Amino acid sequence: MNLNLSPLLVYLLPMAAVWLFYLRRQKRIHDDALGSLSEAEQSGLTEPASLHPVIDPTLCLGCGTCVTSCPEGEILGLVHGKAMLVQPANCIGHGACKEACPQDAIRLVLGTERRGVEVPVANEEFETQVPGLFVAGEVTGMGLIRNAIAQGTLAMESAANFAAKAGTNTTEDDRLDAIIVGMGPAGLAASLKAQELGLKFKTLEQETVGGTIAHYPRGKVVMTNPVELPGYGTVRVRETSKEALLDLWCDAIEKTGLQVSTGQRVKSIDQDAGGLIVETTKGVYPTRAVVLAIGRRGSPRRLGVPGEDLDKVVYRLVDPEQYAGLRVLVVGGGDSALEAAVSISEQEGAEVTLCYRGDAFSRAKPANRARVEKASEKGALDVFLSTSPEKLEPKTVHLTTPMGVKEIPNDSVIVCIGGELPTQFLRNSGIGIEVRHGE
Ligand SMILES: Cc1cc2nc3c(=O)[nH]c(=O)nc-3n(C[C@H](O)[C@H](O)[C@H](O)COP(=O)(O)OP(=O)(O)OC[C@H]3O[C@@H](n4cnc5c(N)ncnc54)[C@H](O)[C@@H]3O)c2cc1C
Ligand code: SF4
Repeated sequence: MNLNLSPLLVYLLPMAAVWLFYLRRQKRIHDDALGSLSEAEQSGLTEPASLHPVIDPTLCLGCGTCVTSCPEGEILGLVHGKAMLVQPANCIGHGACKEACPQDAIRLVLGTERRGVEVPVANEEFETQVPGLFVAGEVTGMGLIRNAIAQGTLAMESAANFAAKAGTNTTEDDRLDAIIVGMGPAGLAASLKAQELGLKFKTLEQETVGGTIAHYPRGKVVMTNPVELPGYGTVRVRETSKEALLDLWCDAIEKTGLQVSTGQRVKSIDQDAGGLIVETTKGVYPTRAVVLAIGRRGSPRRLGVPGEDLDKVVYRLVDPEQYAGLRVLVVGGGDSALEAAVSISEQEGAEVTLCYRGDAFSRAKPANRARVEKASEKGALDVFLSTSPEKLEPKTVHLTTPMGVKEIPNDSVIVCIGGELPTQFLRNSGIGIEVRHGE
């Protein structure tokens, strides 16, 4: 029998080619996602900090819409044809994936089975179990700028009502109506609302204006929604840069004449007969209400050595260029310390020393470890492992190294040794804490 194969070939060959192309593409997508996931696992960056997606594999079709919808880039990936969080620690809870999924396969949750997320117990007025003590913004577990602004405004309204009622029972003149702790988006909105309501208030911030936004990488694209800033108006931005957003914050502060006390960390909040007593690194303030808009990053951990209060000591790198021509000590072994040390070592005339108490940079990403190694080989960076600062002086630092104490000339110190989570601070203030495990 003489079979004519040509019609079969005409149809089958292109179909086979398309199928092959599809399979190869799926494999590449799968391999890329696995690569991302294993990099995150090697760096110990496996836990999302706040709200994040959980994908139901029985509903997921593997279309990848969620993967491409995330404004933060490669956060989700397709593994074995199903969506999965491959860079969990970089998820900031935009929720764009949930909105994009045609299958409704995504839930947004707080915490994971392995690591619970602790959030303060508060009612719908944002008031905690401590009368007069309110919480707003990311400290409640709900991330994003638009949520922080909305919560800051609402929490301040509740705090103002509380203060007005409390004020009728007392004639104390020196007691403030409210103190706002933190000057991220939630603290900004709360402060502008307090000003609009004509309250007697103070805003206290341990660092500078901007909160977490001030820590974004330079030029980061910020995605948000139009928001209402009390006394300033509607801000109609959807996509902007970190720098443009911070300029806008400063404009709002200048135009409204808002007073912010920066560089003042709140150490404790206690109850007294007239309301609350707030103790900071610079003073003690009696108040009727407090809005805690302290985010979730906490306070930078301190070295606890003599000389740490010198002006030359800071806890984050703002702009590497400002260190050109200076002798800089960077303390720490995580990604932020390594990134700071390398970027300063690239500045004209900068002399950089990186010191870390561990014997290897095992907590940092492989790419950052490689950059440090390269800079050190080129002689642009001095690396001291198993070393800790012993004493800081205006023009030198003393390091305890395995070979004894070494004194090196120094103009600036950047301490990147992590932060103290706000949970302990909340507990010490009497606030109840609940743990969410992604349920
Ligand atoms: C890398 C990254 C990218 C992001 N990108 C986006 C984005 O594109 N769009 C978006 O909507 N969201 C984004 N987010 C999330 C967003 O930045 C946060 O949800 C938001 O900043 C939370 O605002 P907040 O005011 O609650 O807290 P924060 O912005 O964290 O501000 C808290 C402030 O309180 C201060 N503070 C803390 N403790 C004390 C104390 N004891 N005394 C005095 N002051 C104190 C801190 O110094 C800080 O300034 C991103 C987050 C990260 C980490
Ligand atoms: S959008 Fe929904 S169905 Fe598509 S890959 Fe993501 S979770 Fe799966």
